[in-house]
Amino acid sequence: MNILLVYPKFPDTYWSFKHALKFISKKSLNIPLGLITVASMLPETWNKKLTDMNVSKLKEKDIAWADFVFISAMAVQSASVREVVRQCIQLNTRIVAGGPLFTEEFEQFPDVDHLVLNEAEVTLPLFISDLNNGVLKRIYRTDQFADITQSPVPDYSLLSHRHYAMAGIQYSRGCPFDCEFCDITALFGRRVRTKTPAQIIDELTLMHKSGWRGSVFFVDDNFIGHKKKIKTELLPEMIRWMKANKQPFIFTTEASINLADDKELMEMMVAAGFNKVFVGIETPEELCLTECNKFQNNKRDMVYNVKCIQQSGMEVTAGFIVGFDNDPDNIFQRQVDFIQQSGIITAMVGLLNAPRLSKLYQRLHGEGRIISSFSGDNTDYSMNFIPKMDRETLMKGYQKIIHGIYSSKSYYDRVLLFLKNYDPPFKAQRKITLKKLSALLKSILILGILKKDRQYYWNLFFWALFNKPKSFPLAVTYSIYGYHFRKVFHRDI
Ligand code: SF4
Repeated sequence: MNILLVYPKFPDTYWSFKHALKFISKKSLNIPLGLITVASMLPETWNKKLTDMNVSKLKEKDIAWADFVFISAMAVQSASVREVVRQCIQLNTRIVAGGPLFTEEFEQFPDVDHLVLNEAEVTLPLFISDLNNGVLKRIYRTDQFADITQSPVPDYSLLSHRHYAMAGIQYSRGCPFDCEFCDITALFGRRVRTKTPAQIIDELTLMHKSGWRGSVFFVDDNFIGHKKKIKTELLPEMIRWMKANKQPFIFTTEASINLADDKELMEMMVAAGFNKVFVGIETPEELCLTECNKFQNNKRDMVYNVKCIQQSGMEVTAGFIVGFDNDPDNIFQRQVDFIQQSGIITAMVGLLNAPRLSKLYQRLHGEGRIISSFSGDNTDYSMNFIPKMDRETLMKGYQKIIHGIYSSKSYYDRVLLFLKNYDPPFKAQRKITLKKLSALLKSILILGILKKDRQYYWNLFFWALFNKPKSFPLAVTYSIYGYHFRKVFHRDI
């Protein structure tokens, strides 16, 4: 059996970091972790090839070679998925599709031959067994959640590391919270399931042996969903392993804001090598937090919480949303003020959308307000429902936020505020490598010479160099991120 695993292309979005990756000569931010995990679940006797369309072209000869093309995708990859499906039909190769896009919206893909939905640990064996017995069905789904202590180690051998800025790993699935706009609890449940520390150590060891060094993203939707296990089981093992292997990785992840309440947990994460965490802050308006059931963010000083996490040694990146039913008229300026005061450099502000499996979708559908499917691109000005606020006012307000936080002056002010209060805890963050030197030279040329707003770049450059030299590599990195953000929002700034 010949299997071609295909990861469709991501458009140029906020999270693609496409314009920043050029500075470090990388083609894609993240590895296709789901697909290489699926690859490990396939019988060993099957031949496997992987095409990640974000780093290489999908070749007709590979499609023709395959008995099946396996596609895994998220909503934001829809356009590329349609193109892959068209090519497979043309070459008469059968398609097997899975992952969040198909689990939520499979009706949109009538030409896909087989849909292996929900978690592959449960549904893929059913597909393989039916294939062996010659009784294949079109749809495989389940309401059971997988026992991820049985998940195999991803097949890293299918990847060419040199194209990626970050490796990926997963410890847990599910989240104990239940935010109305989020589909994670529908996809993975509210009971947090974890791998064993031994599994994670095995995966890190394999990654290390395969030659990977540098950034590793724990893709868990809420890494601290099971705090007790993280503190007593996983982090002590990771701290030991990182010391024994001379700290080869720097970790980033996603976590809920209650991370800030637990000093010991933050200290342990930093000791294990975490330097960055994404937090869903969403909005400073309490009525909106109540509306979307994000009670974990309510009744707390979130600017203070962000500063606590930053002071522990982890940068906070964060998500913000406008478009809630309870958004007051002044929400746009309040979002700008919050972001500027907190020193959150990577602040992804998006318009509210309702993924198909979210409770928000159910509510809005009941109210007759759903108008389309969800694009998955948080910053493309699309909304898949009718907002309460007048649409034009909302779009103008949204643009006002983007301008308020990503114009060169606001952005560089925020970087400076953050760096003044942040001490990079890891040597690897401060070390000058050849790759960093090349990125520095490119940044001098593009941001320091060719761009009109170059004075902001030079101000930060010399401030970091003379006032806080250990933060200099980060100052250059954030200047490059800013270039990407301004490119993505170029219509507005
Ligand atoms: S905390 Fe995050 S992952 Fe959990 S339900 Fe809310 S938005 Fe989803």
